[in-house]
Amino acid sequence: MEAKVMMIKCQKNRKAFGARIQKEGRNWRMTWAFKIDERVAQKEKFSSESTIKGSFIFDEEYPGCPHCGAQSFFTCGKCGKITCWDGSDTATCAWCGNKSKIQLVNELEVKGGGF
Ligand SMILES: [Zn+2]
Ligand SMILES: [Zn+2]
Repeated sequence: MEAKVMMIKCQKNRKAFGARIQKEGRNWRMTWAFKIDERVAQKEKFSSESTIKGSFIFDEEYPGCPHCGAQSFFTCGKCGKITCWDGSDTATCAWCGNKSKIQLVNELEVKGGGF
């Protein structure tokens, strides 16, 4: 079974957290989220080096963002990094501050890159 940890930042307090995903056919199931120290995450190489493609399914057990409870996330169109998302129309990237209008996210592409 293929599993990865994605690094996400909270839109509310800009702190990092890890989200565990596991491969399920052509989809990725989000199974868990946990607070994480950004420096530790870098050391553990939690950033996704490869491109993650496919649809994301949220497991019933998925607790949402450990900082603010947001159940979903979005990928920034500018820097390509991931920020937690509570479902509102507009969102601000916690990594680069880019504001974007959000469309329903059921498929996204996560590109690797240094944090
Ligand atoms: Zn959050
Ligand atoms: Zn960004």
